[in-house]
Amino acid sequence: MIDFAKFSSIFVANWKLNGNLEFIDKYIDALKNKPATKNCVILCPPYVYINNIRSKSHFFVGAQDVSHKEEGAFTGQVSAKMLSDLSVKFCIIGHSERRQHFYEKNSDIKIKARLLIENEIIPIICVGENEEQKNLNLTNKVIFSQLEECLPDISNSKNTIIAYEPIWSIGTGATPKLEEIESCIFELKNYQKMENYKILYGGSVNLSNSGNICNLNSVDGVLIGGASLKIEEFSQIINY
Ligand code: PEP
Repeated sequence: MIDFAKFSSIFVANWKLNGNLEFIDKYIDALKNKPATKNCVILCPPYVYINNIRSKSHFFVGAQDVSHKEEGAFTGQVSAKMLSDLSVKFCIIGHSERRQHFYEKNSDIKIKARLLIENEIIPIICVGENEEQKNLNLTNKVIFSQLEECLPDISNSKNTIIAYEPIWSIGTGATPKLEEIESCIFELKNYQKMENYKILYGGSVNLSNSGNICNLNSVDGVLIGGASLKIEEFSQIINY
């Protein structure tokens, strides 16, 4: 069980389909002297680099996805049990890119979350509205129903993290106003007794906005895509 109380903020680096061995060496080397000990830093590289990161760095390692199957004839899949064999402690699931490009459904995400929790891996479940839904003022409705459909019964505030990621903000440079982020995460925490869950914000986080976002009352940290690949910028973000 990870004691989040000892950390000030949570920073999740989602490398997506990026990185190589040379990059990892440079990355880990650059971060070595900036340990960011007061924060919980979780690096999520592609599966094949998990062991490289784990052996070279003191940061937590996470995966970017997991299979909704436990074993069997499912070519290309990686199970929660396999991730736990690699001492992976966190796994992003339900990212909007997986929902969009791989047709992942809430029902799949719920199974993945359960399998991860059963293997003592903390799922980081992504929820968020698209631009049209935002413009129709449907943000809360959309994220509440995603949560309802994705959270397994065994989920609790110690074994599950939520990431609020407005789809229109991912990789675009556009972010909600600070008060919109605060209000949305505040509402999430008040939803079905989720006040003790750790809830992150994700979407175009960078050095110039991460401090203000992390300072918001209800926000427990950030999930970072693009800026997590910029070594100098990321090292400054996590040392905030
Ligand atoms: C993400 O990958 O979830 C993400 C938030 O990406 P970016 O920071 O690049 O918007």
